[in-house]
Amino acid sequence: MSTKIWLSSPHMGGSEIQFIQDAFDANWIAPLGPNVDGFEQDLANYLASGSVAALSSGTAALHLALVLAEVGPGDEVLCQSFTFSASANPIRYQQAIPVFVDSEEHTWNMCPDALDEAILDRIAQGKKPKACIVVHLYGMPAQIDRLQAICQHHNIPLIEDAAEALGSTFQGKALGTWGDFGVLSFNGNKIITTSGGGALVCPTPELAQKARFLATQARDAAPHYQHSHVGYNYRMSNIAAGIGRGQMQVLDEWVSRRRAHHTAYQAALPELDWLPEPPEAFSNRWLSCCLFSDFEQREHVRLHLESLNIESRPLWKPMHLQPIFAEYPFYGGRVCSDLFARGLCLPSGSNLSLDDRKRVVDGIQRAIK
Ligand SMILES: *Cc1c(COP(=O)(O)O)cnc(C)c1O
Repeated sequence: MSTKIWLSSPHMGGSEIQFIQDAFDANWIAPLGPNVDGFEQDLANYLASGSVAALSSGTAALHLALVLAEVGPGDEVLCQSFTFSASANPIRYQQAIPVFVDSEEHTWNMCPDALDEAILDRIAQGKKPKACIVVHLYGMPAQIDRLQAICQHHNIPLIEDAAEALGSTFQGKALGTWGDFGVLSFNGNKIITTSGGGALVCPTPELAQKARFLATQARDAAPHYQHSHVGYNYRMSNIAAGIGRGQMQVLDEWVSRRRAHHTAYQAALPELDWLPEPPEAFSNRWLSCCLFSDFEQREHVRLHLESLNIESRPLWKPMHLQPIFAEYPFYGGRVCSDLFARGLCLPSGSNLSLDDRKRVVDGIQRAIK
């Protein structure tokens, strides 16, 4: 059996271990320390705007964004339906109500027209949404200028889930810095990893400081343990942040490798539908995704790749079709459900070899012949 080809696996650059060694040498084995401060600074420099709080996961960052936006029980929160469940679960942590919005065909992300319709309809029902979560799936920028204008017009805080989109920009501005809050993830499968981790990008140093405060059990300034807020244990560890510091040195290289995979897949398989990159967008191409003619062809290809020991995966199943979220409102049509039916994510790791990429292409070509 040939070796397994993974969808997206961790890829170390080499210097990560030195940052970890530094942490051991100084005995900074805690959810604070020089690597945490350094990683936050590296990220803020890279994004070129905003202040960053390093956290234990992207999900924790989404949760804190909702807390900082003062979302509470019974409030409604708009959320892109086409996403991973981690975008929507924190809405329920706050006992708030998700209101799901369909995607558009150009970027596969939230449809501005459906968002506008959803906001107007919820306001007409006397329930103005408290926040809006837009996702940049697979690294492709949503139409964030239009979505931001709609949210600003209605004075609704915008949370950008850029968990898959570190390294992507729209109109030259980093994703995660457009909204009132930006969310990053460094889970093992993301474009860079800290083994597990995330970050909240805030517009001001004060808000980032508030996020760090909430993430470390909300301890008031006092010699004893004094609390006037509900706190969380959401801070990133100094060991994980050491991995992150090393990964920042190779981020741009990893982005160009993933982009090269996408270019090569598209060139080798022009008969399939590929998500184009709009002129104002730069995608990190976290995962290369394509659409087949229908569900049957997609499944045929996926199972054929599986028989060749190649991992591939259907596109995200929309949240409004998930049993856990089925009872909540949905605005839009069939764009994201159609993407789910026909789409497949292909192996895209920055450590995918050219030989292995050829195995994937050959496998697909044979399956669709
Ligand atoms: C990975 C991911 C998250 C969650 O990040 P974790 O660090 O795994 O908690 C949230 N949203 C999207 C779109 C993701 O892909």
